[in-house]
Amino acid sequence: MNFSTYKLIFIGCFCTNLVASCSSSAVPGNNKDAPAAESKENPYYSRTDTTKLDVTDAEWKKILSDEMYHVARESGTERAFTGKYWDYAGIGTYYCAVCGNALFKSDGKFSSECGWPSFFETIRPNAATYKEDKSYNMERVEVNCGRCGSHLGHLFDDGPPPTYKRYCMNSIVLEFEPDVK
Ligand code: FE
Repeated sequence: MNFSTYKLIFIGCFCTNLVASCSSSAVPGNNKDAPAAESKENPYYSRTDTTKLDVTDAEWKKILSDEMYHVARESGTERAFTGKYWDYAGIGTYYCAVCGNALFKSDGKFSSECGWPSFFETIRPNAATYKEDKSYNMERVEVNCGRCGSHLGHLFDDGPPPTYKRYCMNSIVLEFEPDVK
């Protein structure tokens, strides 16, 4: 083996290592654009499995952030004008951030200027479930995720046509995914 051959082997090894180190940023676990809840730490998260979940609050407490747990499992409400989607106009789909269930399309969203993301319809009839809520001396309809049962927000009758409904949601329990062009 002469000197030129050694040189070729050295350059070949260098290039292989360079490609390997560059491509490591593409593995799923390192993808900064991946939805936050879609991780190995949340075994219940799925955008394809529509089977209803029966998970205890104690189990969710281990999986969700404190802020998400408070809204999703303790019917908390984020402060108006603070969530990431109240004034957001991206084209795509909103999923339940707790379990991955598809909830709304962006074409069902409208600007209600109430400080929370507002929709006039769900992506499909059984995407959400509804419950009478008489807390805080008010008569409201609570909206829950149709798959995991998490609290999402409330439903009001002051929305725009054609449904005249207003799904007043908490951003923290929503996860937006843009349409692929
Ligand atoms: Fe859910």
